[in-house]
Amino acid sequence: MSLLVIGSAAFDSIQTPSGSREKVIGGSGVYAAFAASFFTPVRLVSVVGEDWPSAYTERLRKRAIDLEGVEIRPGAKTLSWTGKYFENLNDRETLEIRLNVMGEEYSPLVPESYRDSEFVLLANGSPVSHLGLLAKLARRPRLTIADTMDFYIQNCPDSLRELLRQIDGLILNDSEARLLTGEKNTITAARRILEMGPAFVIVKKGENGAFYLSRQAIRLIPAYPSEAVVDPTGAGDSFAGALMGALAASGRSDSESIIAAMARATVVAGFNVEGFSLERMETLTEGEIESRLNAFRTMMTF
Ligand code: AMP
Repeated sequence: MSLLVIGSAAFDSIQTPSGSREKVIGGSGVYAAFAASFFTPVRLVSVVGEDWPSAYTERLRKRAIDLEGVEIRPGAKTLSWTGKYFENLNDRETLEIRLNVMGEEYSPLVPESYRDSEFVLLANGSPVSHLGLLAKLARRPRLTIADTMDFYIQNCPDSLRELLRQIDGLILNDSEARLLTGEKNTITAARRILEMGPAFVIVKKGENGAFYLSRQAIRLIPAYPSEAVVDPTGAGDSFAGALMGALAASGRSDSESIIAAMARATVVAGFNVEGFSLERMETLTEGEIESRLNAFRTMMTF
């Protein structure tokens, strides 16, 4: 079924213990759409400036990603983000973020052909633009999931609260769940988020995996044990993208399907961090995903 992804398209400058890259292709929408495209065709909504290279557009066009909703704004500059990872690769510091064209006034362009989308992923970005996108859809999607981060929890609390009333599921990491709720315990924080509106929440805990919580169930998924982490950027976005791609491909939105999709999402995110930017996902095949998924399944059997 149709999957719509809204998120940033960005220039990323990244320093990790394995090396560094300048102005490489990144952004929450880019990572999420790329990861989802292993499972289903994707409709991407984003905005870039006139400095966005056509070579970057071509790298997305090679996948099943519809780019009609990617606006190129004349006279504007693309979002740019600079981040540095510490030795443990779990912690990072944002050295610089320039929202540029993705600033608060960004009102998403939603092509007519996208308005019937049944699965919607609101990848990391302003909750104001997420609300703007939902208002432009023809009807309520079957499944809407949003991802968020500390930046928006701190800067747009009221819009985020409103967004939480309009979505089915929220994905965020453990420190963000604590920041959003003021709770110290992560499970308690996730329960508080359910009281804010969503039917379920997925909390990511870096190398400690992720858990799913709804009013009926709690389920845990470990991270894929990898010895080859090169650049963790986009781990969360590729997780969210693969999750929604797998769900849209199955046409299902029940809790068992979400948990099965979390396993696929873990595997794809695990591949993504084996290279800088999109480098590893650009060589990834469906066969590699399936064989690692089988290995992952065996690891969890006891
Ligand atoms: P992740 O590693 O999954 O948290 O995602 C990192 C990606 O998010 C990078 O490619 C950044 O370009 C992008 N990003 C960073 N800050 C923002 C922001 N404020 N809004 C949207 N995207 C962002």
